[in-house]
Formats: sequence, C-alpha cells, structure tokens
Amino acid sequence: QFPFGRRLPCDIYWHGVSFHDNNIFSGQVNKFPGMMETVRKITLSRAMRTMQDLFPLEYNFYPRSWILPEELPLFVAEVRMMKDRNPSWKPTFIVKPDGGCQGDGIYLIKDPSDIRLTGSIQSRPAVVQEYICKPLLVDKLKFDIRLYVLLKSLEPLEIYIAKDGLSRFCTEPYQEPTLKNLHQVFMHLTNYSLNIHSGNFIHSASVNTGSKRTFSSILCRLSSRGADVKKLWSDIISLVIKTIIALTPELKVYYQSDIPAGKPGPTCFQILGFDILLMKNLKPILLEVNANPSMRIEHEQELSPGVFENVPSPVDEEVKVAVIRDTLRLVDPQKKKRKD
Ligand code: ADP
Repeated sequence: QFPFGRRLPCDIYWHGVSFHDNNIFSGQVNKFPGMMETVRKITLSRAMRTMQDLFPLEYNFYPRSWILPEELPLFVAEVRMMKDRNPSWKPTFIVKPDGGCQGDGIYLIKDPSDIRLTGSIQSRPAVVQEYICKPLLVDKLKFDIRLYVLLKSLEPLEIYIAKDGLSRFCTEPYQEPTLKNLHQVFMHLTNYSLNIHSGNFIHSASVNTGSKRTFSSILCRLSSRGADVKKLWSDIISLVIKTIIALTPELKVYYQSDIPAGKPGPTCFQILGFDILLMKNLKPILLEVNANPSMRIEHEQELSPGVFENVPSPVDEEVKVAVIRDTLRLVDPQKKKRKD
C-alpha cells in the first residue's frame, strides 16, 4: 500500500476501483481503462443487442432488453405486438437502474404501463428486461451464480474462468411472478446484500448448505440428480467468451486512447464477476458483469440488536482466495521471463 505516493516502479499494480493513474509506464495493472463504463447495465445491453442482431442464436443467453427512457416507445410497441401475436403470453419484466448494484431500485412489472415514470426514469436511466420466470430451484429457492473470470489480455484475447464460484440464494421459497408476489424481493432477487436482512438468511460454516454456497456443491447435487454437468460447463464457458467478445470493441477503444501503441505504458488484466442465472432446463442466462466484484472473505454478523462483528466466511474464503492466488500466478512477471 502506498498511502503517500509511490517512488519505485512495480511489477504489478493492484488498484481498488479503476485503471486511472497517470504515472505508470511499465508493469501490469489489475484494471482495464473503461471497464467500469463498458459493463454498466445500459452499455452491456447495447453491446449484447448489437451481437443479438448479428448472431441471434449465438447470443440468446441474454434476456431481451430495452433502454429507458429512450426506448420506452419501442418497448411498449414490441410488447403490444408480441401480445397480439400470442394472446396467451403473460410476460413479466424487471426494471434495473443503470449503474445500480445490490438490487438497488429494481422492481418487477407485468405491463409496460407499470413503469414508474415519475422523476426517477428521467433522472436515472434504466434497463427493462424480460424476467426469467422459470429459474432452476434448489431447496425450492431461486439462486444465481457468481463466477470469476480473469481477462488476462485483450490482444491476444486471453480469458480464464475460475473452476469454482459462489451460489447466492433467495430466502423465501420461489413462486412464479403474480401481481400479488411481484414486490417480494426475498423471493425474486438473489442479491446477498438484500437477503442478508430477511431474517431467514442462513450463514453456514459448510460450503454446501446455507444461503451462500460454492457453485461446485450445486454441480455435485445436479450431477447426482443425473444432470449433464459437462454440457452446463461448456454452455457457461461459451457464454463468458461470447460476452467478452461483445465487449471487446469498446474496451479496445478505451485501451488505445489511454495507452496508445508505441507509448510506454503498462499492460492490463482484470478479474470480472459474471452473474449467471440457470433456467429450469439448465440453460445459463447472463444477468450482468461486475467490474469490481467484492473480494471480501468476511461477513457481518449481528451479535445483539445493532451490534455487528466481522466474522470469517469459509465459503467466500474457499472461492476468492483461489481466484486471487491463481490470478497472481497467471500474471507473475517472473513466469513470463522464464517462458521467454
Ligand atoms: P444488481 O446490479 O442491482 O445486483 P442485477 O442485474 O444483478 O442487478 O439484478 C439483481 C437480481 O435480480 C439478480 O441477482 C437476479 O436475482 C434478479 N434478476 C435480474 N435480472 C433478472 C432477469 N432478467 N430474470 C430473472 N431474475 C433477474
């Protein structure tokens, strides 16, 4: 840590939030310029839409999305057209503020007319997206997967996917969305930061029980039920690669403007957090990409009302220590020298 500035050049610079630091001319930085902007909900949705227009079948792992407020008329028109074509279609949509995180400001709607237009949409752009109504349930609960992906280099494109990730569980049994349960966040949203407050959240010392588990423990369970876990992994790998390919053009523009070819500068790598939902039929769906996934290996425990203490979280530790360790091994400059 350099609280008062740095004097000597380093092999690896580990920044907390973003790439920016004008005094780095060599070595490696753990952030890409422009990554935060590139994975915001609106930018990601735009990049995915471009690819969906070009390769609809290859990119069918991202829910159909519209950008608000600019595409509100399009959203209304397309939903009306689809409903006219198929009167039995009873969709649900999820509205997510751009740049939001931890479930902040998210709500579900049944009809485009339910979008809350007062104030917030004008001042806060958002994405409205088809809601995946039939997620895979474990113990009757909805859950999502956080996978850690190392983008080691843009050119050539080098991507590593951690073999284990986290599964974050809802804390109320899942029911398909109805007007009555749309507002029940503990049933529909898997965010840890929300469910921790539900009263039903289970902190477990074991990696295969509780409200946060390892993804490998879910895979074991699916495999024992006869699921084709190999195919699931290969679908997930394909989702990750295609998503990064969709983001690459924008990332290269940022990269070339911050580190022009021929000028001394660092190379970059970055750990990304991919949030993935599994549908009942085991198809993985991309929810979002996080540029700064939390690497905390502790959680807060309420000892008595209002008194909190940080305690170790074995599940986080098992997954995240391995991610950081393997990342450092992969970007190790000594290793590169030996290879050369
Ligand atoms: P945030 O950045 O606020 O966490 P997300 O896009 O990750 O926003 O959405 C929050 C949660 O909402 C997800 O973890 C997931 O449980 C649920 N969710 C988001 N999008 C969908 C969707 N299209 N279908 C079903 N559930 C979704």
